[in-house]
Formats: sequence, C-alpha cells, structure tokens
Amino acid sequence: MSLIPGNEPSFRESVDLMFNRAVALMDLPPGLEEKIRVCNATYTVRFGVRLRGGIQTFTGYRSVHSEHMEPVKGGIRYAPSVNQDEVEALAALMTYKCALVEAPFGGSKGGLCIDPRQYDEQELERITRRFAYELAKRDLIHPAQNVPAPDMGTGEREMAWMADQYARMNTTDINARACVTGKPLNAGGISGRVEATGRGVQYALREFFRDPRDVERTGLGGKLDGKTVIVQGLGNVGYHAAKFLSSEDGCRIIGIIEHDGALYNEAGLDVDAVRNWIMTHGGVNGFPDATHTAEGAAVLEQPCDILIPAALEGVINLSNARNIQAPLIIEAANGPVTAGADDILRERGTVIIPDMYANAGGVTVSYFEWVKNLSHIRFGRMQRRQEEARHELILAELERLSDHLGDQWSMTPDFKKKYLRGADELELVRSGLDDTMRIAYQSMRDVWHEREDVNDLRTAAYLVSIEKVAASYRAKGL
Ligand code: NAD
Repeated sequence: MSLIPGNEPSFRESVDLMFNRAVALMDLPPGLEEKIRVCNATYTVRFGVRLRGGIQTFTGYRSVHSEHMEPVKGGIRYAPSVNQDEVEALAALMTYKCALVEAPFGGSKGGLCIDPRQYDEQELERITRRFAYELAKRDLIHPAQNVPAPDMGTGEREMAWMADQYARMNTTDINARACVTGKPLNAGGISGRVEATGRGVQYALREFFRDPRDVERTGLGGKLDGKTVIVQGLGNVGYHAAKFLSSEDGCRIIGIIEHDGALYNEAGLDVDAVRNWIMTHGGVNGFPDATHTAEGAAVLEQPCDILIPAALEGVINLSNARNIQAPLIIEAANGPVTAGADDILRERGTVIIPDMYANAGGVTVSYFEWVKNLSHIRFGRMQRRQEEARHELILAELERLSDHLGDQWSMTPDFKKKYLRGADELELVRSGLDDTMRIAYQSMRDVWHEREDVNDLRTAAYLVSIEKVAASYRAKGL
C-alpha cells in the first residue's frame, strides 16, 4: 500500500519534481530535458489463470522509461498496490540509477497486482509463468532488450521460473539465461546477488563515513562503528543491510519496523533472531527482548543516528517529516521520502543518501550476473589457480630469503593462508560492488562539495546521472 498522503504529489510526480529541481541547474539543449524525463512506454496486461476451480484475472505492468541504452533493466514487484504511476516512477529511478553506477542499461520496471501471501507455491508458479509468457511474447523479457530482476515480493524462485519460461519459448537462444537476473546459483545466478542491495547499503555508509566533511554535515562525528540504526522493512534489503551493519561494522540496531508494528530496544536487537521470528510467526509481534509498538511508523520518529527505510515508498511524507530526528537517512527502499518531505528535511539539514545511489547494489550485481550469463563462464574460473600459483612462488622465494633471519621473521600461517588463496566469484563480486559504490559516491560527493548551488546529495546524484544520460543521447545524434 502506498503511504503517500492525498495532499501530496504521486510517486511519479515526486520523482519528476526532484528531476526538475536538478535539471534547472543544468544547461541541456531545448527538449532534451523532456525526452529524458518522460517514460517511453508502459504495457498493461490482463491475463487469466485457472485456479481453485475458477479463472482469476490478474493485472500486470512493464514500463520502459528510457532506451538510451539497451537492454533496459529493472525489477518486477508483486504487491496488491502495484499501479501504473508506481511502475513508471520506479522505471525512471532505474534509468538514473543505472547511469549513476555506470551499469550499461536503460531503465525499466514491472509489477503484478497480487498479494503473494494469499497463494501457495504451485499457484504462484503458474501465475508467474503466465505473466512471464505475456511479457516475453512482446520482448519485454529478453536478454538483449529487457532484463527483469527481483523486487518487493519476488526473489530467486520467481526469477528461475521466468528464466525457464523464456527458455521454453526460445529454445535456440544460447543467451536465454541472461533474460532475467537474480536467479538462484544453480539456474545461472551469481554468488552474492541475494544480499547485493543490502551489501551496497553497507558499502555506501562506509564510503560516507570515510570523509569527515560529509560526517560533519550530519553533526554525528566519529566512525560508523557504534552508531544507532532504525530500519524499516526486514525483507531482502533491510535484513541484509541491518545484519551486515551490526555484525561487521559495530552498528547497534535499536529499532525494526515491519508491516505489523515495530520492535524497539535501546541495547540493540539481534537481527537474525528477529528475522527467524518473522519467518515462523509472520510478523514481529510477540518477539521477546524488545518493546512492541503496534503503530510501527511512529518508530521512524525515534532518535537514532541512521534511519534506513527499506520497505515502501512515501513513508516519510508531509505528515511526519518534521518529526524525524535522525540526522542521516539512507534510502534503501525506492522513493521512501516524498518531494515535500525532502524539502522539509533539506531545510532542517538532515543528510539523505538518495535511493538511486543507496540501493544500486542490486542492479550492479545483476549487471555482473548478466555479463556472466553472456560469457557462459563463472568469474575467476580462468585466473584463480594461476593467481594462487604465482602467490606460492613469491612466498617460497621470500621464505628462502628469510631462512637465515630466525623465527621472528617467518610469516604467520594465517597470512600465508589468506595470501595464497586466489579470489573466488563471491570475492570478485564484492570487490566489483565495493568499487562501484565508492566511485559512484565520489562522483556525487564532488558535485555536492564543489557546486555552491547544490546543497544535497540527491540533487548531486541527479546532476551526475542526467549528464550521463544526456551524453548517451548526444552520442546517438539526438
Ligand atoms: P521484500 O519484499 O523482500 O521486503 C519488504 C519488507 O517490508 C517485508 O519484510 C515486508 O513485510 C515489509 N513491509 C511491508 N509493508 C510494511 C510497512 N507498512 N511497514 C514496514 N515494513 C513493511 O522487498 P525488498 O526486495 O527488500 O525491497 C524493499 C525496497 O527496496 C523496495 O522499495 C524495493 O524497490 C527496493 N529495492 C530492492 C532491491 C532488491 O534487490 N530486492 C533492489 C533495489 C531496491
């Protein structure tokens, strides 16, 4: 359910308003601004599936925002609230996101109006295959034209069904597996994709905290270690972000907001224990070791260092923006802050790490998966052992040279073990993701610090990405 109040612009209008604010600071040729902003096409499909003794009709969408690069890319969402406005807003964000992180795709997004919790696995498979058939028939699933991925309500399982459906319809397409990303490893997926978006949120925060000038703007000071965090949505993105930040960076997760209320514990919540509780009980209600609040959204307004909305759009809006106390918000979800709330928060000096950057880890690793599928070989397969052999040579030589120096000069076994090991696919994926998140952040940071007319990261992100999209159009002669 979209939480954007009636007196505010819709999600798509919100994205356009933010786009317009940035474009006003640019000097684009006449007409190009509109060409970039508008959504090229949205396909609506209604199809029937025989279920439970009757026929049920479903409505789905696939929107293509910009084809300045192809294939276009973007997730498929399963939720009862999916609608054309939302799908078009999300497709636009995909265009800007891909440009910002230099993933060579145009922007797209899809959705199916369905509450997946109401259907069993077999029913969901039939519905998903039928939806995939409708999209593939029109090249809206295609390795060279349109490559979906998971989003809210979908995951590896749905992607595997879609890939298989496409392969059945295109039996001679050698690149069939590249038609969707986010597949399980045994169906052409890549290590590290499931957690990629949450991992990207972690890498984004690490990069933010590397520059004292950025941290100073929040008034927080110090390092990421020890910061308090409230996260909304403990699904794919929120769970992984919270888990990595607490177990690897020393953050304390003091609040978790879910669809049935929120948990709060000043001493810190055990993220895995909460996740397991949700898996077995369907929600956070009843979880021991924390205070439960039925009105979950109220916990967004609790004091904390970092607020991570990782569920729905529009959750921070005109009705609550003034009550948000966190000095730093990282938008793990798409569009969690409305344009109106963004104005209020900017005036108050709240730093927002914007969605198009913050949750780009997913599409980044999807890009790696697509490349893997097209090259038909796992990353690291050719180099790994050769790398190990070279490391072994160096270590053997160093040991020979240091033989006469005595024991205190010998290498520790742990160092040898770590140094000798060649990088496997997961390490390469993490390295590529970390590099992407750092470079994209630095490009925003430069604009943020260097331009006097830019005082927030979102405008900086739009400026960087619109400039890249405009350059693609110019190169095409538009
Ligand atoms: P998900 O379905 O795995 O998780 C969403 C979670 O939010 C669920 O746990 C759900 O119970 C919870 N939720 C639903 N309504 C809520 C409410 N009113 N209050 C609090 N929690 C609520 O979805 P996801 O894939 O984690 O996606 C979350 C957000 O991240 C979306 O905005 C999505 O577009 C964005 N995103 C996802 C990916 C990805 O790779 N999955 C990539 C980029 C962006």
